[in-house]
Amino acid sequence: MTARQLVPHVAMRPLWRCRNCGREWPCQPAKLSLLSEYRGNRTALIIYLGTLMAEANDQFAQLNPDRRVDLTDRFLNWARARG
Ligand SMILES: [Zn+2]
Repeated sequence: MTARQLVPHVAMRPLWRCRNCGREWPCQPAKLSLLSEYRGNRTALIIYLGTLMAEANDQFAQLNPDRRVDLTDRFLNWARARG
């Protein structure tokens, strides 16, 4: 295992980029690990993601007051889509 693999796919605030791969969070590995972590409890996952989305929304609004972004697809819709 390399050092890079030891870094979890978690969000760096306030930019919400993945600490491991640098993509917009949640990146694909983050989604997969969340789906596995919350297997059988999709409601809890949606609530958790909703909390993070609200936090990201606040932080993006502070960084870019003139630019409103809709984070629903990024944070929630992928989790709703399956099962
Ligand atoms: Zn990642």
